[in-house]
Amino acid sequence: MSRSVVLLAEAGPQGLHAASREAIGVARLLAGDEPVVAAIFAGASEAATTALSTAGVDRVVCLDSPPLAERRGAACAYALAELAREHEAGILLLGGTPFGRELAGGLAVFWDALSATQVTEVTRAAEVLTVRRPVFGGRASELLELAGPRIVLALRPNSFGGTPLGSRNARIEVHAPPSIPPPLLGGARARVRPAESTTGPDLGTAAIVVAGGRGFKSPENFHLLEELASSLGAAAGASRAVTDAGWRPGSYQVGQTGRSVSPQLYVAVGISGAIQHLTGMMSSRVIVAINSDAQAPIFRISDYGIAGDLFTIVPALTKEIRRVRAR
Ligand SMILES: Cc1cc2nc3c(=O)[nH]c(=O)nc-3n(C[C@H](O)[C@H](O)[C@H](O)COP(=O)(O)OP(=O)(O)OC[C@H]3O[C@@H](n4cnc5c(N)ncnc54)[C@H](O)[C@@H]3O)c2cc1C
Repeated sequence: MSRSVVLLAEAGPQGLHAASREAIGVARLLAGDEPVVAAIFAGASEAATTALSTAGVDRVVCLDSPPLAERRGAACAYALAELAREHEAGILLLGGTPFGRELAGGLAVFWDALSATQVTEVTRAAEVLTVRRPVFGGRASELLELAGPRIVLALRPNSFGGTPLGSRNARIEVHAPPSIPPPLLGGARARVRPAESTTGPDLGTAAIVVAGGRGFKSPENFHLLEELASSLGAAAGASRAVTDAGWRPGSYQVGQTGRSVSPQLYVAVGISGAIQHLTGMMSSRVIVAINSDAQAPIFRISDYGIAGDLFTIVPALTKEIRRVRAR
């Protein structure tokens, strides 16, 4: 397996996606001294492309063609697979984003590669990559040994935080990808309309998530949760009891039938810890629970717990965090 790595970089209105920075760190570890090539699709801002060129990669390739600018999944997977072939890469890395996960299957087919998604750890020994990923809704993890000349990995967000990126100044090249077979261009891609959410970071990739449950008693009290989230620069989430009751939109829901999150820090406030909720958040790095019932199941999977009334604890915590952060 060649050590050279191709990765997909994604950008949004806030610039280069945090998940792409994470992928660059992993790519650098896996590539050693071999090149890391970052592909970015047409339509990304100039600022994001420039940020990518100094984020630790050796080359930046902008893939410029209308179906790629429209993010048509099959066409994007085809173009990335061609790029990986051209660069004789051994590994193709995707950040932990919904689009990255969408491309993984197509890439495995077009590039004739092994693939693994939701990867939380990866080590390389000679020709074998050993990856860890959660299974059974996060209640267990499995180790996969991938031995093949071409491997596609889609990372789980926030699993590789703090990987050093190094400082390089990569050249930016614009490529028109090879012609994409017409069947891959068919079908209109549905327009994605962002769901209603808070103004804070995206729930799926935020480093800190503060989620509230039925313990808040009514929607009028939920501002306490949002103030705590904002004091921490966190995304606000909720249990299904809250979204079903219409206290907050469905986009807040964490769990089996909501979003899966794996932040560095998850704060569960007034949430009992039903298995369907745990499934969506138990791979978070550090879990803190605030609940008036000291026997609540959420405490069994928490690293830190505060048994007490959230109406006293949450405002005091927000005040203290604001005080410390203002220093
Ligand atoms: C098929 C299926 C799918 C599901 N999918 C999901 C899912 O994706 N996500 C999800 O969350 N749930 C899901 N559920 C629902 C899940 O089973 C629970 O009903 C739900 O998670 C409970 O939400 P909760 O913890 O907010 O409420 P409750 O279970 O009612 O817990 C409220 C908690 O607040 C505490 N509390 C009360 N007052 C205070 C106070 N003043 N201070 C501090 N703590 C207080 C209580 O002690 C209690 O522990 C699903 C269920 C099914 C059957």
